[in-house]
Amino acid sequence: MTESMLEKMYADMGISKEVYAYGNAVWKELEPRFREIDETAECNQLKVVHSMQECQVSEACLLGTTGYGYNDLGRETLEAVYAKIFHTEDALVRPQITCGTHALALALMSNLRPGDELLSPVGKPYDTLEEVIGIRPSTGSLAEYGVTYRQVDLLADGSFDYENIGKAIGERTRLVTIQRSKGYQTRPTFSVRQIGELIAFVKGIRPDIICMVDNCYGEFVEMTEPSDVGADMVVGSLIKNPGGGLAPIGGYIAGSRKCVENAAYRLTSPGLGREVGASLGVLKDFYQGLFLAPTVTASALKGAVFAANLYERLGYAVIPDGKESRHDIIQAVTFGSPEAVIAFCQGIQAAAPVDSHVTPEPWDMPGYDSQVIMAAGAFVSGSSIELSADAPIKPPYAVYFQGGLTWQHAKFGILKSLQSLVNKGLVGKNRLKL
Ligand SMILES: *Cc1c(COP(=O)(O)O)cnc(C)c1O
Repeated sequence: MTESMLEKMYADMGISKEVYAYGNAVWKELEPRFREIDETAECNQLKVVHSMQECQVSEACLLGTTGYGYNDLGRETLEAVYAKIFHTEDALVRPQITCGTHALALALMSNLRPGDELLSPVGKPYDTLEEVIGIRPSTGSLAEYGVTYRQVDLLADGSFDYENIGKAIGERTRLVTIQRSKGYQTRPTFSVRQIGELIAFVKGIRPDIICMVDNCYGEFVEMTEPSDVGADMVVGSLIKNPGGGLAPIGGYIAGSRKCVENAAYRLTSPGLGREVGASLGVLKDFYQGLFLAPTVTASALKGAVFAANLYERLGYAVIPDGKESRHDIIQAVTFGSPEAVIAFCQGIQAAAPVDSHVTPEPWDMPGYDSQVIMAAGAFVSGSSIELSADAPIKPPYAVYFQGGLTWQHAKFGILKSLQSLVNKGLVGKNRLKL
């Protein structure tokens, strides 16, 4: 297909000549970055296939169980595959873990006891965890069960405040929670290497402290995972990276035998633990999604790098910036006004394969302390490994963009977002001059 034919197809889908040309100029410079991303995907693809082969995944594993779900071969094998990929003793991978917040809450509540203290040495955790911990009073929070919480903020440059972390670790400190991804913040995301240094520091003070990493959005972005550098537990959602866009629900906890066992007894019941929990019909999608996850994550990463470079060139603050190495799939773009944030999200929505005809608006979403606008026209509702954008409607009016099951679709979505800003007069045509 010739360049002009592509241009015409984009034009038919609402992308002007100027936006198309601008996007292409940005994209042409990204080849070395994309090659690097493909190398990581290749490494992770081999890691996943190798783990599936070593665990002897068979056709029978793709079938599910019902009822109690005793002797669920597919479930048990999948958990062994996850443990191999993350190089952990064990893993819990279940459709009964309803989302990322649930997985994290489960890991915390099952491994903390009354009188224990939880420490976040990386500042405020993800919004929904505030209610899990009880930072914002909430029914059933850890605070209600007598688990206290301490937090050490990052230094102004985004690095760890080792001096105060050392002081914050006390006799009651039982678990340290480290959020890998920036989430809805404008701090940098941590690399696996940085997380390893922090864990080594904590273990150097008290080796028995459990180090948990909120791995949401980080899986398969690098060639190693936090569990390769000392994390006792890594926790995440299957409707993000490791589900590869196919998992319709679910969460995972991979970690030490004891941590995972505690989580299993809390997920189902003391005495029953991991032995129950029917997999119903989701296993084939869990396996196939995991198989696709390295390349799907790579597509999302390419989209993030493209968006960073495109909006940076237009003069907006972007985190990470266009050149930085990546440790998660999230791209933050600070627009500074609610109108621009809303226009961006509406552009992303208009690029979706599902629900492209609806217009997203800000709403009061449970678990968040301000209105949030979400653009997602996804096959799996709320899936953020699919092309999606979220923005809390509060200063600095930053949008968090992520996902894209294919790079081509991510590119289209980003061009649509820019077109939406142009159409609303928020980005003048003169700014698209090359
Ligand atoms: C998405 C996310 C969560 C919560 O996951 P949900 O599936 O939305 O409940 C927690 N932490 C981080 C860093 C996340 O990105």
